[in-house]
Amino acid sequence: MDALLPPRGTAQWQAADAAHFLHPFTDFGALAAQGSRIITRAEQLYLWDSEGQRLFDAMSGLWCVNVGYGQQALIDAATRQLQQLPFYNAFFQTATPPAIELAELLAELTPPQFRHAFFTGSGSEGNDTVVRMVRRYWDLQGQPDRRILISRNNAYHGSTMAGASLGGMKSMHAQGGLPIPGIVHIDQPYLAAYRRQRPAAAGLDEEEFGLIAARWLEKKVLELGPHRVAAFIGEPVQGAGGVIVPPASYWPEIQRICDRYDILLVSDEVITGFGRTGHWFGCETQGFRPDLMTFAKGVTSGYIPLGGVMVGERVARTLIELGGEFEHGYTYSGHPVACAVAVANLQLIREQRLVERVHDDVGPYLAEQFATLAGHPLVGDVQTSGLMGALLLVREAAGQSPFRPDQPVGMVCRGHCFAQGLIMRAVGDRMIVAPPLIISRAQIDEMMALIRHCLDLTLADVHSRGWLA
Ligand SMILES: *Cc1c(COP(=O)(O)O)cnc(C)c1O
Repeated sequence: MDALLPPRGTAQWQAADAAHFLHPFTDFGALAAQGSRIITRAEQLYLWDSEGQRLFDAMSGLWCVNVGYGQQALIDAATRQLQQLPFYNAFFQTATPPAIELAELLAELTPPQFRHAFFTGSGSEGNDTVVRMVRRYWDLQGQPDRRILISRNNAYHGSTMAGASLGGMKSMHAQGGLPIPGIVHIDQPYLAAYRRQRPAAAGLDEEEFGLIAARWLEKKVLELGPHRVAAFIGEPVQGAGGVIVPPASYWPEIQRICDRYDILLVSDEVITGFGRTGHWFGCETQGFRPDLMTFAKGVTSGYIPLGGVMVGERVARTLIELGGEFEHGYTYSGHPVACAVAVANLQLIREQRLVERVHDDVGPYLAEQFATLAGHPLVGDVQTSGLMGALLLVREAAGQSPFRPDQPVGMVCRGHCFAQGLIMRAVGDRMIVAPPLIISRAQIDEMMALIRHCLDLTLADVHSRGWLA
């Protein structure tokens, strides 16, 4: 390989990158002018760039590298499978051992209503599968009018046509004529945003608000007519939307409404699956019983792409017993190398008791540490769920007065984080983390020290810009 690709310096990588590589969710022109940071290697929860700077990866790549970088068991599983059988499809009444093993293992690890898995290449493809599958289910049930899927504003369900339509990102809908027909949105269970719109809601507590927010679903169902509603989909904790942790009363009330109107309940577990929130799945943390679950990211800890849908018995029995051929699937549904890596990854999570660790040890410790940030003059709201954490940047901590839209404080803070060797993501004015599940208490301390330092630098910066005036 070295003979083919002579080592290049940062500037050369950046030039070739700008010339040929269109990055996802990126302003191409702006990035080409600025130049990418070139990431060249990683170990555990640290990355190194082509300039030799070390970065603390508090985002687990993109919410996926849950077991950290460099896990030999995953590397060995991929190598062995590549040598033995790098690919075979599952279309021709054929199957490979890793795909069967993974489906079996998922049936064991997921809640008891799940006994079947459908594999895809990504989370977006998983949610496309959900749309196809719930509509097929209702056709087979003799209720073809049940076509509409209800989702939420500010949700993220991927970037394919159906994924982006299910998602509630206005900026995504604005490009490409989305959402596609038959997908409607209600508002998200985010009290700080609700209070901003309605000063009268100042006295509302979290649990009261959780019921109000869940009942927006009931209102929408009644408005559309229950006989037209196929499913409700949500992330147990909204991830890309800014780590929005719902009140504890929210999901049980959603469950009640779905049960009452016979609506399928879909949990998008692409981020919350496999231990992130302190249980194997986010629906267990939030206390609801989905009919379908989308997964991806953490299923392989991101070492190789894989996604899928867990299909609960209610839907699976109908598809199997009444369905005939289901006209849907992907070349890489059940890819043997991806499935072999997933099996190794899930076994590692189980052997190292990472889910219990998040639940009993590092999750509560992160919550405790994040709570101490609430005293910082820039920090309003603080929320965590397992190893997901968010803090809201505000102009006066006490008054929760938001920065103006022309004051991109999140981007300023993110810039300081990168410069200090910390990868923390900005979503509007929310700064978020989702570190690998292998993180230790000492590494949480290291991350918190970096966060505090970066908040101080941000405070000084926004002060000198005159944004606090
Ligand atoms: C990332 C994500 C997706 C999309 O997954 P891709 O693998 O990027 O297609 C879907 N849902 C949620 C909740 C996600 O975070």
